[in-house]
Amino acid sequence: MKSTGRGVYIQRSTKRVSVQTSTVRIFLWLLLQDRLLTQNNLLIRNWPANDGCPCCFDHPLETATHLFLLCPFANSIWNRVRHLYNITTLLFTEDVIAFWLRNRPTVGVKWDTIWAATTWTIWKERNNRIFKSVARPSFLLMQEITTLVDLWITLA
Ligand SMILES: [Zn+2]
Repeated sequence: MKSTGRGVYIQRSTKRVSVQTSTVRIFLWLLLQDRLLTQNNLLIRNWPANDGCPCCFDHPLETATHLFLLCPFANSIWNRVRHLYNITTLLFTEDVIAFWLRNRPTVGVKWDTIWAATTWTIWKERNNRIFKSVARPSFLLMQEITTLVDLWITLA
């Protein structure tokens, strides 16, 4: 793995990642390059997108780090994930990629899968809120995260 100016390159995908769908793998790759079409990246491309965070409605510019980590909505999801998987050592950071990397050594082998399932679920929720005007309660998101984690670990 090496770090670049725009993100982190993973030189070799893990077996766990390989059981995820290609859509999820592309999502994770874009997230790690900071190339997801969040509002800050849309503005770089001169696309109109300045409605603020669709999950908390309280942040003027959606970035990947805000959406997946710093947003109160995401933070509540991560706290539920932490309790669900009994992760006593979860360390929060100021960057979503650093958050993933920093917790890899201490959380254990499930961490990559938990991180992928949680960020993917938050991304789908964000898209549903923007494009379908549908907001699901957090317990449904938790059900989806646990289903994905169980599936991806079972198939690995
Ligand atoms: Zn937010």
